[in-house]
Amino acid sequence: MDYFPLFCRLQGKRCLLVGGGDVAERKARLLIAAGADLYAGAQHFSPAFHQWAANGELTLIDGAFEAGWLEACWLVVAATNDDAVNQQVAAAAEARRIFCNLVDAPEQASAIMPSLIDRSPLMVAVSSGGRAPVLARLLREKIEAMLPQHLGQLASLAGTLRTRVKQRFASLAQRRYFWERFFTSDRLAQTLANGDSAKAAQLADLLFSAELPTQGEVTLVGAGPGDAGLLTLKGLQQIQQADVIVYDRLVSEAILNLVRRDAERIFVGKRAGHHCVPQAEINQLLLEQAQRGKRVVRLKGGDPFIFGRGGEELETLAQHQVPFSVVPGVTAASGCAAYSGIPLTHRDHAQSVRLVTGHLQQDNALEWQKLAAEQQTLVFYMGLAQAAHIQQQLIHHGMRTDMPVALVENGTSTQQRVVSGTLEQLSELAQQVESPSLIIIGSVVSLRDRLRWF
Ligand code: SAH
Repeated sequence: MDYFPLFCRLQGKRCLLVGGGDVAERKARLLIAAGADLYAGAQHFSPAFHQWAANGELTLIDGAFEAGWLEACWLVVAATNDDAVNQQVAAAAEARRIFCNLVDAPEQASAIMPSLIDRSPLMVAVSSGGRAPVLARLLREKIEAMLPQHLGQLASLAGTLRTRVKQRFASLAQRRYFWERFFTSDRLAQTLANGDSAKAAQLADLLFSAELPTQGEVTLVGAGPGDAGLLTLKGLQQIQQADVIVYDRLVSEAILNLVRRDAERIFVGKRAGHHCVPQAEINQLLLEQAQRGKRVVRLKGGDPFIFGRGGEELETLAQHQVPFSVVPGVTAASGCAAYSGIPLTHRDHAQSVRLVTGHLQQDNALEWQKLAAEQQTLVFYMGLAQAAHIQQQLIHHGMRTDMPVALVENGTSTQQRVVSGTLEQLSELAQQVESPSLIIIGSVVSLRDRLRWF
């Protein structure tokens, strides 16, 4: 073991940071967060240091390093851009038996700062002993993605219950059993994740007496429009905890690869006979799985609440008092816009954006007059089949025939294709793309030539 891992309490303890530039700023931020009585010494300080000093978060010492600065310090960080100075600081610290962290020279440091995953009070620190900092950072990112944000709250709640648990349960085995149930309770985790700490405390109370009800739950997760990188961290955590995943054709293979290996996968997209599973059947399926005590994730393309029928699925669950939650996703409009260089709003072009369904149930369902107005962007979902109708109605209600339009097929995926032209060409353009495609209409489309980068 080259370095002994140790978490130390720095609150109110005098620490010295030598340096006043970018690197020193990063270290200062951490030391301030740890509540150190921080002194920063340098000949030049970046504006951030002056701001911290003005806020009373640290004390500045102007000038070139002197060994006297180390007086009464518990920890020293040498973070100047001059190796010779850093080494001088390290040598002075060594002579006084003060731990010293040195940027970019771990071999000369008596202390190193690890990469941190901060779910205070829970902390995970990763270190490669200075040998492979990029590897440590990549590992940190992986762990970061695995650990839900609410873990810190869970640990804090546990802290408040410790005395009570000791009083209530005499034996160690009983306490361990309590804590295992506490830390593995999905309902508790979900409640904390939803920010409802009062309810979480109630659920924790139940653990002292009875078993928590073993009811399953359903989470609607927005998978984004295609690129797996657009899945949210929370969405990833949900699909890695699920027992059952119910998904349809808009969910990309890359996202399905992130699902927990042993989870059951149920496809409810188009069947061999080209018919979708009826919505009522999907609602029923989610309900039944949850009632069997499963953690169900209903994975949907884009965002579950934007043309995703998420509301209908939740109604059924609510009627049967099955717990549920929703994790939003990047909707096709923002994904396709970003990946094709079309800002949906722009000070000179559009002050609003409308997300419209092209899947029209009755002929005059849309307020075409309003849709045809200037200074806005229209985004039609499911609009391919109705492209000719959309074109004709918008022109009929006064939109100019040369209004720019773009159709984005398989947006954000590696197969993304964009065709563009004017409103009077819309129905022809619609023949050139396949589903899933999005139709974007508005003068923002003209910005694409300047803003696309691939
Ligand atoms: N809930 C989804 C929309 C589902 S409706 C969301 O928020 O994105 C299905 C329609 O979304 C498709 O007909 C298509 O118009 C659009 N769509 C979904 N994914 C798309 C993609 N990757 N590229 C282009 N359009 C997409």
